[in-house]
Amino acid sequence: MREEILVKILKPKNTPADFAHNLHTLLTSPTMRGQDYYDFMILLQKKIQPDMDLLANLLGTKMSLGELEERLDIKIYEATTKYKNIMQSDLSSLENQNVFVNNYRSEYFKYKAHLFTRNVRLFLRCKGCKKEFDSNISVTNEAFNEMVIKGRQHLCSHCQFENVVNKCDYIIQEEN
Ligand SMILES: [Zn+2]
Repeated sequence: MREEILVKILKPKNTPADFAHNLHTLLTSPTMRGQDYYDFMILLQKKIQPDMDLLANLLGTKMSLGELEERLDIKIYEATTKYKNIMQSDLSSLENQNVFVNNYRSEYFKYKAHLFTRNVRLFLRCKGCKKEFDSNISVTNEAFNEMVIKGRQHLCSHCQFENVVNKCDYIIQEEN
């Protein structure tokens, strides 16, 4: 039994599809399994992006990133409090098990920002020719919210009109 766990721990999975399966298990499994939380942390630390379409298929319903974050926050909280003993005994074959389990929650907070942050690309509608053009600005959602943009100049790529824009003029598109 222990050997089996050890073999699996040595071979973590790391594709977006693996992450979707892992999240599905975390969110729906009626029992707590240390291995699932171990796999989750490895995927998170490797900055793998889960296949959200596959996750929606597995769950039978579409889940927004915000919703996923909320539910994971609760799961991770429970795993490191109420179910901490189970987690520790499930992962007892792990060399640095104590450090891993004790630091689990802070590691989750450290890496989850990457999981829930999306890059956005900013477009503009030209005040001269009325066509949409790329401002060539790509930032995280978070960074954009904090940006102060007033009277910034952007040359339209279609008609070369010099647009002077404020923050509210940007058209936000999510990047992958
Ligand atoms: Zn233009």
